[in-house]
Amino acid sequence: MRIAALLLVLAPLFGCAGLPGLSGGAAPSDPVALHFESIVIDGHSDTTPWFQDPDWDFMERHDEGHQDFPRMREGGLDVQFWSIWMGRTEGHGRAVRDAVERMDSVHELVRRHPDELVLATDVAGIRAGVAEGKVVCLMGIEGGHIIEDSLPALRTFHRLGARYMTLTHSFHTAWADSSGTNELPEPEHGGLTDFGREVIREMNRLGMMVDVSHVSDDTFFDVIETTSAPVIASHSSARGVADHPRNMSDEMLRALSANGGVVMINFYSGYIDEALVEPVRNVFRSLGPRFGELRERYADDPKGRRRAYRDLMAGVDIPQTSLSVLLDHFDHAIAVAGADHVGLGADWDGVASMPEGMDDVSKLPALTAGLLERGHSPEVVRKVLGENLLRVMAAVEAAAEGVPAP
Ligand SMILES: [Zn+2]
Repeated sequence: MRIAALLLVLAPLFGCAGLPGLSGGAAPSDPVALHFESIVIDGHSDTTPWFQDPDWDFMERHDEGHQDFPRMREGGLDVQFWSIWMGRTEGHGRAVRDAVERMDSVHELVRRHPDELVLATDVAGIRAGVAEGKVVCLMGIEGGHIIEDSLPALRTFHRLGARYMTLTHSFHTAWADSSGTNELPEPEHGGLTDFGREVIREMNRLGMMVDVSHVSDDTFFDVIETTSAPVIASHSSARGVADHPRNMSDEMLRALSANGGVVMINFYSGYIDEALVEPVRNVFRSLGPRFGELRERYADDPKGRRRAYRDLMAGVDIPQTSLSVLLDHFDHAIAVAGADHVGLGADWDGVASMPEGMDDVSKLPALTAGLLERGHSPEVVRKVLGENLLRVMAAVEAAAEGVPAP
């Protein structure tokens, strides 16, 4: 254990792949060595609005929230897909503009910290960035409403670096049904419309991963029927462990596996612990009017609104599940979809309650230790931590029709 303790101290300094003598070869069975030697990739973080707040510094360690650079280093998290997310927007051009500004904030963050961060848009870039000991940043669009029914907008977001798009957020778009978040909405299209299928084919052509998190079951199966490349669920868990519409049924997990895709497990206590689903729903139902007031009061002040939401949530007690329940989702997804089809998509800063012992990104080594304790081999754990996503991304790149890099 002495070596393990030393690695824990050194790993943040060297970055994962920089540890001498550890790259390549068989995966080590020591959890800390395995964790810091592996490429650790997370599929979904909602921290991005803070990048647009000049008074919030990503490079500083924060007591609140789930993610910043020092805690990523501590947790051995090498690669993050930053979510370009927003709720429902009104008015022509508003969603596109907000997305452009949010994507710009990721580019600007990387520009200001070239020694620590690098932007990547392909597998080669991810591997190179990790080998240099940098935190690798990618972007995913969360919610098909953001393209405003425009394939040129979709293509432009791809040119700006977006490498996946979640087809819906928690509400239907004009071309795809959503699963909702707390309540299951009435279906509107019964899956994908013809234009929705066109969006999928265009994403395949571009080499942009199709993300099925947040979509309705009908949309999911329409996507599987339409896509010519493997898909991802960037932040979804297993309905076989906790029955929530945001989680995936065993049938969906098997279809995702046959498609060659990957399900990146969401850590949110309110989705993954069946005993907490209803209590957490009730907390949010009771907070609805307060959120409405704040939305109105800070209609033209997104920074003020963000801080007011955070202060409101700080005073609300959202129950936490255990790390063991989270591990049950990994076990279940590995058993049903197979070890080649599971990854991590915690939903950092997008959800109100992480499991005990997984309070922020710095705690990620506990996941690796837990997976080994559950009997998964070091090789399987390394795939789950990042290699599975890299395989899917490479397959999506290979299926793209020679779209040149900008
Ligand atoms: Zn989400």
